[in-house]
Amino acid sequence: MSDYEFVEFIEEPISRKKTPSNHNDISIGLLSGKLTCKLTALSPILIPSLIIDNDQDEGFRQDFLNFYEIHGKKVIPASTLKGMLRATAEALTNSCVSIFSGEYVHTFDNQIETASIKLPNFENIQTCSNIHALCPACRIFGMASGFNTADNLFYRGKISISDGVAESWIYDNPTTIIKLESPRPAREKIYQKENFARGRKFYPHTENLEIKTDNKNDRGNIRPLKRGTQFEFTVFYKNLEEHELAILIQTIVLESGLKINGDNSVTFSHNHPDKNKNGVYHKIGYGKPAGLGSCHIQITSCEVLNLYDRYTTSGSGINVQTNTNLQNWIQKYKQIFYKEFSIEPKFNDVTQLTAPAYVKQLYKILCWPKD
Ligand SMILES: [Zn+2]
Repeated sequence: MSDYEFVEFIEEPISRKKTPSNHNDISIGLLSGKLTCKLTALSPILIPSLIIDNDQDEGFRQDFLNFYEIHGKKVIPASTLKGMLRATAEALTNSCVSIFSGEYVHTFDNQIETASIKLPNFENIQTCSNIHALCPACRIFGMASGFNTADNLFYRGKISISDGVAESWIYDNPTTIIKLESPRPAREKIYQKENFARGRKFYPHTENLEIKTDNKNDRGNIRPLKRGTQFEFTVFYKNLEEHELAILIQTIVLESGLKINGDNSVTFSHNHPDKNKNGVYHKIGYGKPAGLGSCHIQITSCEVLNLYDRYTTSGSGINVQTNTNLQNWIQKYKQIFYKEFSIEPKFNDVTQLTAPAYVKQLYKILCWPKD
């Protein structure tokens, strides 16, 4: 059972909305660099290719959705990674709602139902449109609403993300997803009261995949990659303020309960990442309601770029974090994040932390394994 859940909108003072620091400002204190990240699939994973492989030369037609591929490698497009990270950052920081159509379309029993829903009238969650009052997510990821209608301003954000590329992979069996659409009762959950939306939608992780493995008479319609598949991607950041880098790092790594080995590989126990310790993980791609796309992201290296030294002293300004330093460096920024949001984490049960309601709700939904 993996219906979506909500991180509810909370009304907060809008003091977190402010003018972003200048992209061209290389003054000391702003942070730039490059994070190399590894995404490990904790359940079968599928980012569907838009092209259906239709090789009929030998009378064989692959009529299932395959994983997206570029130059023979399996790829999670940068836009997919960015979308997932942005949604997570918005929920973690109670930022503005960047994508909100106001129209909710639902298909049930071949009937399309539409409903008009509104964002609650909390200033802190209204989509940013003023460059001098950007929420943390917009300052880091860019102003998603695009051009400000009043003065045509556009803010492109302070990070850029590469595609995630897998160097090797194993196909899972072709499979049919039993459950894509949420059942009707879930539809009611989008409303708080009087057509106001309740919150931000996230899918919990599940051990029990709602899929039907292929057999000879009943071909599957998707072919995901196996759990354990790893993708590497990079996140470049430029001129972030300290607390913004802290948000970015927390957004990427969340809270891991996995055993991470010295060589950065991940140890799985039989069914759970770690029976004795839960963690908070991302979910990406196709078939989330059926349990696909659970994943763990680690930062595996970091190059800190000191733009000031780089421009003023030749041959200096790049500092690569080695393995031990890297973990300390990540911890330092996690602590900054915890402090900024008054969080007291609990490492043996991530759902029991002291934190604002939106952080607790997000952690509860994305926690794995469940009790
Ligand atoms: Zn915003």
